[in-house]
Amino acid sequence: GTGTATWVYDFSEGNKDQKDLLGGKGANLAEMTNLGLPVPPGFTITTDACRYYLEHGSTPPDLGDQVTEHLTALEKAMGKTLGDPSDPLLVSVRSGAAASMPGMMETVLNVGLNDESVRGLATQSGSERFAWDSYRRLIQMFGKTVLDLDGELFEHALDEAKQEQGTESDLDLDAGHLEDVVGRFKAIVREQCGRDFPQDPREQLDLAINAVFDSWNSGRAILYRRRERIPCDAGTAVNVVAMVFGNLGMDSGTGVAFTRDPGSGEQGVYGDYLQNAQGEDVVAGIRNTVPLPELERIDEGAYRELLSIMSTLESHYRDLCDIEFTVERNKLWMLQTRVGKRTAGAAFRIATQLVDEGLIDMDEAVRRVTGDQLAQLMFPRFVSGGDATQLTQGMNASPGAAVGKAVFSSETAVQWADRGEEVVLVRRETNPDDLSGMIAAEGVLTSRGGKTSHAAVVARGMGKTCVCGAEELQVDTKNRRFTAPGGTVVEEGDVISIDGSTGAVWLGEVPVEAPAVVRYFEGEIDPDSAEADDLVRSVHRILTHADEVRRLDVRTNADTPEDTARARRFGARGIGLCRTEHMFLGDRRQLVEKLILAEDDEGKQAALDALAPLQRQDFLEIFEAMDGLPVTVRLLDPPLHEFLPDLTDLSVRVAVAEAQGHPDEANLRLLAAVRRLHEQNPMLGLRGVRLGLVVQGLFAMQVRAIAEAACERKRAGGDPRPEIMIPLVGAVQELEAIREESEQVLAAVFQECGVELDVLIGTMIEVPRAALTAAEIASSAEFFSFGTNDLTQMTWGFSRDDVEAAFFHAYLDKGIFGVSPFESLDRPGVGRLVEVAVQEGRSARPELKLGVCGEHGGDPDSVHFFHEVGLDYVSCSPFRVPVARLEAGRAAL
Ligand code: PEP
Ligand code: MG
Repeated sequence: GTGTATWVYDFSEGNKDQKDLLGGKGANLAEMTNLGLPVPPGFTITTDACRYYLEHGSTPPDLGDQVTEHLTALEKAMGKTLGDPSDPLLVSVRSGAAASMPGMMETVLNVGLNDESVRGLATQSGSERFAWDSYRRLIQMFGKTVLDLDGELFEHALDEAKQEQGTESDLDLDAGHLEDVVGRFKAIVREQCGRDFPQDPREQLDLAINAVFDSWNSGRAILYRRRERIPCDAGTAVNVVAMVFGNLGMDSGTGVAFTRDPGSGEQGVYGDYLQNAQGEDVVAGIRNTVPLPELERIDEGAYRELLSIMSTLESHYRDLCDIEFTVERNKLWMLQTRVGKRTAGAAFRIATQLVDEGLIDMDEAVRRVTGDQLAQLMFPRFVSGGDATQLTQGMNASPGAAVGKAVFSSETAVQWADRGEEVVLVRRETNPDDLSGMIAAEGVLTSRGGKTSHAAVVARGMGKTCVCGAEELQVDTKNRRFTAPGGTVVEEGDVISIDGSTGAVWLGEVPVEAPAVVRYFEGEIDPDSAEADDLVRSVHRILTHADEVRRLDVRTNADTPEDTARARRFGARGIGLCRTEHMFLGDRRQLVEKLILAEDDEGKQAALDALAPLQRQDFLEIFEAMDGLPVTVRLLDPPLHEFLPDLTDLSVRVAVAEAQGHPDEANLRLLAAVRRLHEQNPMLGLRGVRLGLVVQGLFAMQVRAIAEAACERKRAGGDPRPEIMIPLVGAVQELEAIREESEQVLAAVFQECGVELDVLIGTMIEVPRAALTAAEIASSAEFFSFGTNDLTQMTWGFSRDDVEAAFFHAYLDKGIFGVSPFESLDRPGVGRLVEVAVQEGRSARPELKLGVCGEHGGDPDSVHFFHEVGLDYVSCSPFRVPVARLEAGRAAL
């Protein structure tokens, strides 16, 4: 080749900050190599090479030469040649993207073995059995991963061999049996592919590298990335590493370690170890592991060295690290480390522990936790007792309380969840093919595997409740049931409850309660008292610091006194959106009907007069609950027919009455009104400011109720801060007309009451035209509040009530967007309109107050965007308020 790009780096050439280029695994192997830790030598092929491959369908022309160069250096370092018949160097070919995607992509071990070198390996290792077992593993992995064969073919062949020997354990197969298995595996390859298993070690290597590149686009990897919002074009790096063997005998083994408990954050020795086993055996949960501290008894030297490396890594990374290691004949080797995934609770605890240990400061502690993690800590918990019977106790792999119908396959989980059922996925163990079922389920229960099994690792990563290793359960996926100790049989569809914090499994539905973090937010737990546990104290410290550093204010969307009071306890500094439509529902519907049916002005006024005192009382209580802080009241927004009966229902009622010979006069009039108000496109019809301009007196009544309530509060010694917000404005003229009317009403009320109050009048920006003419609109508005729900609806032309159920599934599948624009703000489109409106609005009126009150106000990503474009506040539902406080703090750092 003639290219000048560098596609391959030796481990000694990289460092931990080069994740984008070398992938997480490669960057950290490089970092450990440079720390002088015992890492088997190797090299990393960059994500650039993968992107090239994915784009061109072939590797860069000069990649082969660069691999040769590094392979030669590796051979020199090891004193062996790849696949040498007498003493072969073997390598593993491992995927490793910038973002961790556990188990989603491929790995091939033992590359370099063939019909000749297997004999060299036998001589060098002193174990024929080991050599043949390694060879059969290579053909099996290579067949499945590189040649795309059905893995079951190999499993069946292996099972057959075991049956012939009358055993169920691999360990009972001797060298001769395994040599025979190799023969069967090679026959499978020949039959299925029409070619022999490649004997040329270099060809094996090149094919394995391409297969790892290809695995970037496997179905499960795509699904995982979409869920975790990992960019689909990042590509994976490939690590080629000299093999070390954990399966050379009982003085060898493989394990996983955490420098702290990823479930609780506690310091200590956590992990699992499996003697005489290779790589993936531990994660796959195939055989049962022993707790890591037992390694001390098994191999004290390796154990001591591991502990010392763990402490080196933790202080070097200043964070919890997880580690994969292998012991080959009493010699410890580090195969991987990374800053480890952890539960939400552990994330908070660890962050403040590290502050107390002097490793990080409070700014960094705030960066180390996320709003999503905080939201997880606010999920309800099981209340002990109740009617449910405990079936068994498994391992508490990922906290939370999940209740649902037991299902035994991923397909069923997805199907049932799609039709709205809550399900718990029950499996012996999960594998990467179960990802879609795990996503669909409320929780995951397995009977095998430890806290580092696939189920546990993936569930923790996605914040899903998981109980694993419930070994007393006999899971029979074929007959879709499991049997608990004592003989209780749980069939598909029976409701079970699983507690990911304790590992308990219950038959039936266990009631839930608010967790300690919520009780702290509610003011029920004093963070400085003995009642507060570590977690509450950590959350308190981190949120207090986030509040100190954030620039964005956080308000709430609330329209009842109870929600208002709760949001205030949760830290809201005002109401950003008080929707008034709920105040027209229930018993008051009749008054709205009267308003709509009134035939003259008198009748209309009478209906409005009846509504006014009720509205005043609503506002009074809300102003009291938010005393001293702004309360933005939005005048009525939805189309009026929403307060009337459904057209079809009413038509049927009228028709039935007529058929029975008792025509119902009142219903007939109502039906006429419903017909009159019926709209083909109500969300684009008579609503928002348009109602205020068309239904005489409606907005004036609301403004009067606001003003009178404020005066009453003021006279009672309160400090009401009402703001009046006009919805769905598209033109400044609409706003001017309502403003004029409102100002007159305010002046009249203040005069009647002898009270003076400053009341801001502003508008929502939720119609694209309002954003584009924001300078004009600002001339009549003292504040803007972005209604990003409607703004998204109108910018995309997506009906917010229909599209998510109708076709977003397909859009997400096709990658048109990675996340619904109703959930996380679409920066380039809707966000662009927000930016334009911010600039135009502020240029016309520098003191213009700017906020957002669409659902995006409580979405972590969107909060960062609103910080960046310079809004003054975000407003969200009460339970999102702490999340928004935290994310606003993180955005400011
Ligand atoms: C919005 O459109 O973003 C908004 C907050 O108003 P609503 O959801 O009530 O239409
Ligand atoms: Mg709206």
